[in-house]
Amino acid sequence: MKTVLERLNGSNPVFSVEFFPPRDAADELVLWRAIRELEALDPAFVSITYGAGGSSRDRTIRTTGRVAQETTLVPMAHLTAVDHSVAELRNVIGWYAAVGVRNILAVRGDPPGDPNGEWVRHPSGLTYAEELVRLCRELGDFCVGVAAFPYGHPRSADLDTDTKYLVGKLRAGADFAIAQLFFQPEDFLRLRDRVDALGCDTVLLPGLMPLTTPRTLAKTVELSGAPVPDVVARRLDPYADDPAAFRTAGIDLVTEMGERLLAEGVPGLHFYTLNRSKATREVVARLGLVPARA
Ligand SMILES: Cc1cc2nc3c(=O)[nH]c(=O)nc-3n(C[C@H](O)[C@H](O)[C@H](O)COP(=O)(O)OP(=O)(O)OC[C@H]3O[C@@H](n4cnc5c(N)ncnc54)[C@H](O)[C@@H]3O)c2cc1C
Repeated sequence: MKTVLERLNGSNPVFSVEFFPPRDAADELVLWRAIRELEALDPAFVSITYGAGGSSRDRTIRTTGRVAQETTLVPMAHLTAVDHSVAELRNVIGWYAAVGVRNILAVRGDPPGDPNGEWVRHPSGLTYAEELVRLCRELGDFCVGVAAFPYGHPRSADLDTDTKYLVGKLRAGADFAIAQLFFQPEDFLRLRDRVDALGCDTVLLPGLMPLTTPRTLAKTVELSGAPVPDVVARRLDPYADDPAAFRTAGIDLVTEMGERLLAEGVPGLHFYTLNRSKATREVVARLGLVPARA
């Protein structure tokens, strides 16, 4: 089983995809259709998020294990420190290792119920992702990733402080970082410059979501923490009531972002798929990121 870093260090740029664990049997069918459709395009890795509040955790472990054991894909399991003691975290990491997972995205997580509420550490748990990175490193030969935020994490006082802590967790042993959603390539490139200015050259991957519907645009606002910039609004707003035209304009926009980022030398693009494959397949085909045979 290859590591994420090995897959990113090839001679050509790659793409990767992110899924969330299915809630029920119907969701599971949809997810597995998307996984199989994308498998044919040889993504560098597929990541499975780790739910807040406990409910989806078993499904994350099960789904990541199935990807490891039943597909040709390289899985990456997310892990959070939410409501977990260190003993429980060790246990989950042990499960990941047991099902053949070598890649972990170590994120702190948000308070269950209210993501903006006060973060309360489990009495025997961890406070920051940096500690989770160290724990993963201690427990095995894992390739470990972390989260990065082009506009700064919402809890950070300012961009300098945000960058300082990001570099802290990279230096704690992370092999790469994946960026939260953003609207313009420059937003990601400025993050990369800030990290670079602190003397850190760890790989940063941009995260993109195909903007196929007004809902995906709203999701980007919610996750990025930034309003839609005028330059994006001017391209999408005219089609708010025309789903087909919105989708075309949104896919064009994300494809152009991908082109610019690849021209700026990123080793890969990470796609937030919402467990569907069609839009991602279209974008990566247009960007020439799929094998010729696919
Ligand atoms: C690519 C990606 C994947 C994600 N996957 C998931 C998932 O699967 N499940 C899930 O629940 N959530 C997920 N998240 C969301 C993430 O859990 C939240 O954004 C969370 O609020 C922050 O996580 P973090 O790992 O960046 O935290 P941290 O790096 O711990 O940072 C949290 C805050 O504390 C500050 N900070 C960090 N270190 C220190 C320090 N040493 N001293 C003082 N302050 C510090 C940071 O600047 C930041 O403001 C994901 C986010 C991204 C970008």
